[in-house]
Amino acid sequence: MNPELRQDLVSGDWILIAPGRHRRVQQFKETGKRLIPSKKDCPLENWEEKNNREAILKHPKGKNWRIQVIPNIYPAVMPSPSGSRSPKIKKRGPFATLPAFGYHEVIVTRDHLNNFPRLKPSEAALVFQTFKERYLAISRDQKLTYISIFQNWGAKAGSSIYHPHYQLLAIPVLPPDIARSLEGSQNYFRKHKACVHCIQIAWEKKEKKRVVYETKNAIAFLPFVGREPFEMRVFPKSHSPFFEESTDGLLRAVAEVLSKSLKKLERSLKLPDYNFYIHTAPLRNRNRYHQYHWHVEIIPRTTISAGFELGSGIEINPVDPDEAALLLAKN
Ligand SMILES: [Zn+2]
Ligand SMILES: [Zn+2]
Repeated sequence: MNPELRQDLVSGDWILIAPGRHRRVQQFKETGKRLIPSKKDCPLENWEEKNNREAILKHPKGKNWRIQVIPNIYPAVMPSPSGSRSPKIKKRGPFATLPAFGYHEVIVTRDHLNNFPRLKPSEAALVFQTFKERYLAISRDQKLTYISIFQNWGAKAGSSIYHPHYQLLAIPVLPPDIARSLEGSQNYFRKHKACVHCIQIAWEKKEKKRVVYETKNAIAFLPFVGREPFEMRVFPKSHSPFFEESTDGLLRAVAEVLSKSLKKLERSLKLPDYNFYIHTAPLRNRNRYHQYHWHVEIIPRTTISAGFELGSGIEINPVDPDEAALLLAKN
């Protein structure tokens, strides 16, 4: 295909799909090997004994837990000392500052070797159900605005520990990407009286070119306006702004579709590093966001932003999402 500028329906951002002659899909493949540190050097083995602290929760309780939640030892944010009062914005010269208040937890699955796509379906579902459990518990703190849940898989995705784990970071401010996403969804709804995400799901189902995997209740596809090669999104098919209102059954469906999509990605690109994260409506002013549609985004880390991207905010995606979909379909 010839290079094409495409505009994202939600953010309004332009991205440039520019498949280069010298950057074929093959070039994004990794070696298929991943260095696995030994269990005895793993900081997440016997965490309670080593740290002389109890986990926040374990499923099931006791020695034979399959999943546990622990506090991050190097938290990016700290629980507030000010009780129920919201921390105050302070001025420093012309700038606004706020104590980095919040919660930073790590969700750990038991097995040292097998990451999300290699978990049994019941364990993959338990990961998402545990996300929801912590989300609901933490969201009772009225000082918080947003809870981000994500996985960094591999060094290029920012992970320093191999052992499969996920993070939850709760903060008192609305993150800019979420704010823009909410606003874009509201604008679309005002103009078209429809959810912009439901519209995209319907279009991808009709086009059938970029769907990666689909079940009765969830769907994964490569977005038409993908910013990165092999970027994927997983949507629950039923419209809901709030991740935490999902039933266990729906979370199981999303976990299954995510797992299948990541398996295809691993086989297609030979074990690439990636991040995935949940986008959901925020904790406050909830009635404003009925047009939002929660989902999971998967970003394989195969490229590095260069001068044009940093200087313009326009991402160059060197792989046509249609071509990426063809490769995923073979795997
Ligand atoms: Zn381990
Ligand atoms: Zn929707």
